Amino acid sequence: MRKITIIGGGQSGLQLGIGLLKNGYQVRIVQNRTGEEIANGRVLSSQCMFDNAVQHERDLGIDRWSDTCPPVDGIQFSVPDPEGSDNKVIDWCGRLDKSAYSVDQRVKMPVWLDELEKLGGQLVIAEAGIADLESYARQDDLVLVASGKGEVGQLFERDAEKSAYDKPMRALALTYVKGMTPRPEHSAVCFNLVPGVGEYFVFPALTTSGPCEIMVFEGVPGGPMDCWGDVKGPEAHLAKSKEILSTFLPWEAERCNDIELTDDNGILAGRFAPTIRNPIGVLPSGRKVLGIGDAICLNDPITGQGSNNASKAAAIYLNRIIERGDQPYDDAWMQGTFDSFWDYAQWVVQWTNMLLLPPPPFVLEIMGTAGTVPKLAHRMANGFNDPRDFFPWFADPNAAADYLQELKAA
Ligand SMILES: Cc1cc2nc3c(=O)[nH]c(=O)nc-3n(C[C@H](O)[C@H](O)[C@H](O)COP(=O)(O)OP(=O)(O)OC[C@H]3O[C@@H](n4cnc5c(N)ncnc54)[C@H](O)[C@@H]3O)c2cc1C
Repeated sequence: MRKITIIGGGQSGLQLGIGLLKNGYQVRIVQNRTGEEIANGRVLSSQCMFDNAVQHERDLGIDRWSDTCPPVDGIQFSVPDPEGSDNKVIDWCGRLDKSAYSVDQRVKMPVWLDELEKLGGQLVIAEAGIADLESYARQDDLVLVASGKGEVGQLFERDAEKSAYDKPMRALALTYVKGMTPRPEHSAVCFNLVPGVGEYFVFPALTTSGPCEIMVFEGVPGGPMDCWGDVKGPEAHLAKSKEILSTFLPWEAERCNDIELTDDNGILAGRFAPTIRNPIGVLPSGRKVLGIGDAICLNDPITGQGSNNASKAAAIYLNRIIERGDQPYDDAWMQGTFDSFWDYAQWVVQWTNMLLLPPPPFVLEIMGTAGTVPKLAHRMANGFNDPRDFFPWFADPNAAADYLQELKAA
């Protein structure tokens, strides 16, 4: 029986590990925090996952939450009037064909860690370093590194060609709350873009104490939404979240008159540079390990794609491992495995990186047109499920002009 070690028990590592166990592989997961520590710790993400990504969980029988998690049924996009009035200059909503779900990773990962052990997987609770990787690589057929933003991922060299930025592009913050007034009609990711300031999006989710809403702030560095450095303590974090909304987004502030934090750990603030790395890590001995998920493909959360990518990568890697049979996991196979993922992920990365810059006029025209052409709003909403559909028309002015003309003519 082939033996595979995975460093990191998050979305990609656990999904892949469980998939491998269900296909007869021997699996060891090395994870630096227990399920209990994760459940009682700080929130990690806003983790909104669209249907294609959730389907990979369903395929493995590990989607335990779609019945109880409040669904996200659309994407609402708004831009406030720069004159400072309460008006919106862009405002549309596209319905998702299939619901998205955000299950707090503090809920999901402890259940998956238990599942891994129930299926006979070995769980090692430890912080894996290079020496551990050497030891696992010596013993096992394959070592995968699924350590997210963990330091051990530095083993993988940054790919300067694929990485558009070398510094953080947003100051990030999360606020998990209860008591928010629901969006009328149906639920949605309410995505608000405040030019020069940043983005705010909010959507329903399932946390450790039941349904909640997750507020996500993406502040342009140095701007007024890059304001979390001096905020100390959960109540101050909540107060700052409300203050940002009353200053820039009055319609969102109105929904928040009665909000309270889900728990003192329902807050997060930080920043990181979006980075793509070489997927093959070379250990001092010359042995190779293969990266997956954020460890090698780290995007800014502005488009909410990281967990989606991690799920899709886990599904692709699982198929590649199974297809490989008894043949060695050599360099060509490792590179080919990443390339199969990159065939998809390059479009996600390109789209995400575009949204981190001020939108060019043709993108503003697309966004504005979606307000009068429901077909376009529908397509843009469902693009979150498969961002390849944004190309070429969202990236190229000529393709955009042709597409908009076609839509208007119809
Ligand atoms: C503010 C914010 C909002 C986000 N919102 C969304 C969203 O709405 N939608 C979306 O799809 N994505 C979102 N993401 C991204 C998403 O959370 C990640 O992309 C996803 O969790 C990556 O999965 P992963 O398996 O690569 O890593 P992770 O889920 O980070 O798992 C890595 C695991 O490895 C462990 N680990 C690290 N180093 C070691 C080590 N040396 N030894 C042992 N264990 C180790 C970590 O503790 C962790 O448990 C968001 C991220 C942030 C920061």
